[in-house]
Amino acid sequence: MFDKIEQAHLSELHFKSDESSQLKSIIAIHNTKLGPALGGCRCIEYDCEESAVNDVIRLAKGMSYKAALAGVPQGGGKAVIMKPRKIEDRVALYQSFGRFVDELGGRYITAVDSGTNLNDMDQVSKVTHHVSGSHQDGLDPSPITALGVFAGIKSAVKHKLGYEDLNGVHVAIQGIGNVGGSLADLLYQAGARLTLTDIDTEKLDACSKKLNAAQVQPEDIYNVSCDVFAPCGLGAVINDETINQLQCAIVAGSANNQLASNEHGNILHRKDILYAPDYVINAGGLINVSLGIIGVEEAIIRNKTLGIHQTLNEIFQRSKVDNTPPHVIADLMAEEVLYH
Ligand code: NAD
Repeated sequence: MFDKIEQAHLSELHFKSDESSQLKSIIAIHNTKLGPALGGCRCIEYDCEESAVNDVIRLAKGMSYKAALAGVPQGGGKAVIMKPRKIEDRVALYQSFGRFVDELGGRYITAVDSGTNLNDMDQVSKVTHHVSGSHQDGLDPSPITALGVFAGIKSAVKHKLGYEDLNGVHVAIQGIGNVGGSLADLLYQAGARLTLTDIDTEKLDACSKKLNAAQVQPEDIYNVSCDVFAPCGLGAVINDETINQLQCAIVAGSANNQLASNEHGNILHRKDILYAPDYVINAGGLINVSLGIIGVEEAIIRNKTLGIHQTLNEIFQRSKVDNTPPHVIADLMAEEVLYH
């Protein structure tokens, strides 16, 4: 266990078990140099405790890097709840989790992630103040995440294709959910040409019609000949199977962990496909919850989110000068903030 902690430069790892509420939870605090650790709570079924530990450590580290490059006063942390086969009492489970968060005295602030929702965070907020994104505070991260991705796509298009705006630029979006749907609206308003896919055919039909967009089957999105491929659905979509199908100049979307492995980022670089590192381009939601909970006004949050454009510019410039893939440059830049 200590090897894992040291390798990830993790600062704290906490475990909580409470039989009466079925809670089995782990909270990882990676780094608090910039402020209290902020990161969502994931509630999924894990095949064993070790997978849950590995997941929470990896995710907490990712949040530190994301916050460092987003320029928010936040450290990186994450929580996991090992989901029971059947949750007997959801209210009791999340109140119990909230007490666990509260015991850490504000060093960790929780939020929604896979398998949790705003109702769960409402229960958490009954027993602790250290939660962001419940019905009470109304901090919906998705529209602002889409705005950041939009700004990031503009930066990538300028760098790679030399265009000042997105008029006529062809973007293929995978997943038109909360973020992908808002992104599609922004791109449409900017004059981009859209190709969309989603496994939800009803949503896909409605969105394609509204935005005059082409649509393809989910498995065909990778080989759409386009300027930008925007993964906004699942993680690990740049993998051994898909990487040779890509016919785009740029990969830039909201999904977390788009690269199945770092090696896939290296391959994109060798193929001369520009990759906008996921945790940089999708930081709008983090900026919103981080600054939202301390009462920063919306216009300032929007401006800060638009700053993702400049951060990516710097990453792309350094990548070009050093002939090093952008995901490697992003990690180096985050480490400069966290450890120097
Ligand atoms: P969402 O669930 O609202 O949307 C995902 C969409 O992808 C859904 O419409 C779903 O039907 C579709 N989808 C799922 N599998 C698909 C497939 N195989 N092919 C095509 N479409 C598929 O989720 P979201 O909140 O929009 O988040 C999207 C991604 O962005 C996730 O990876 C999430 O982790 C990441 N992200 C979201 C936020 C945020 O603020 N919501 C912030 C940062 C990162």
